[in-house]
Amino acid sequence: MTGSQVAAVVSMGLAGVLLASMSGTSQSAPPTALEAAAQGESPMKTDGKDSTHPANLGSPQRANGERTIEEAPATGPQRTDGERPIEETHIAGAPRRGGRFVNLAGPRALPGFGEMAPFFLRKAWTSIVGRSGGAPWVPFDHEALLHNPSITWIGHSTMLVRMDGVTFITDPIFSERASPVGFAGPKRLVPPGVPLSELPPIDFVLVSHDHYDHADTDSLRTLAERGARFVVPLELGELIRSVGGYPVELDWWQSVTIGDVRIHCVPSQHFSGRSLTDGNTRLWAGWVVEGPTRRFYHAGDTGYFSGFADIGARFGPIDLAAIPIGAYDPPSIMRGVHLNPEEAVQAAHDLRARRVVGMHFGTFDLTDEAPDEPPRRFHAAAARLGFDDDHAWILKVGETRRW
Ligand SMILES: [Zn+2]
Repeated sequence: MTGSQVAAVVSMGLAGVLLASMSGTSQSAPPTALEAAAQGESPMKTDGKDSTHPANLGSPQRANGERTIEEAPATGPQRTDGERPIEETHIAGAPRRGGRFVNLAGPRALPGFGEMAPFFLRKAWTSIVGRSGGAPWVPFDHEALLHNPSITWIGHSTMLVRMDGVTFITDPIFSERASPVGFAGPKRLVPPGVPLSELPPIDFVLVSHDHYDHADTDSLRTLAERGARFVVPLELGELIRSVGGYPVELDWWQSVTIGDVRIHCVPSQHFSGRSLTDGNTRLWAGWVVEGPTRRFYHAGDTGYFSGFADIGARFGPIDLAAIPIGAYDPPSIMRGVHLNPEEAVQAAHDLRARRVVGMHFGTFDLTDEAPDEPPRRFHAAAARLGFDDDHAWILKVGETRRW
């Protein structure tokens, strides 16, 4: 097959993934309440003042530089629902139907084949011929990115964050393509802001969901080899273990403590799937990282939904919210699972965020809008909702800012 045929086939495969994952709701079953927490060899502990289901790990053991970090279980967490009591709580975890996760709003209407097929053909074409509009890139400043607190945009939804004595990275992707195969699929428009080999020691990695532009196995494997631990939504642990990492799996509203920060898994409105058959079998989520002096939020991938206000009510005010602003056209396919810039700013408002930083644009050409359109619309929308330029950030790839 020619390159374009291969790309078309891969793209249609990805279309199938999208379709399959959106339709995995044929069997109906009542949504489950909170399921078992991420569990490992060490006992869970309840801190009493938090009504979420804590999935704390064992006692602090490992000194990493100047700080002590709670150690992940030696064998990785095992789901042992039958062996451990499930704690009662008034906050339910992610709903499931027929063994697959669903959004709080239930399953969405499926875009028609007549809409999907031309879209994926368009994207197959742009993955071959390329488009301009990649985000501006600057050389990273090694000293700046070690500042605490700081945030560095590596590209797409990959943020390197330092706060309250910990260093973490979100949805790490350093590969050339966001794809199951190296020879086709959306290609990187701009190099990573910091090469994987130049990252400082990473205490933990947050992965929001299993899509290829957020859960990149080559990047995850390298981080696992360097000893980072992983905090992921339910059922994503197996992928982490397959690349040699030790994951903690959390349901929505569950939490884990690492070092001085508490990591809360919070709802998002999206879907999952890496093949034609595994749609919505792994959960998707956002994250609130809460420390003694700062609160950081990462939305993962999400459409606009009422959960932003719930998260804001529970954890706001948020000092810095990283929210996706790209991958919204055509709305007939993307609305409900991705945010446009105006919805992203509204989400920041709902979250009670003091500052918002845009992401998920200008790195991989995933959808129809021009890759450089989201920041323009974001700044205009931010101004309308009262976020001035010091409170609505668009970073250059490689840029670090203090917050
Ligand atoms: Zn994405």
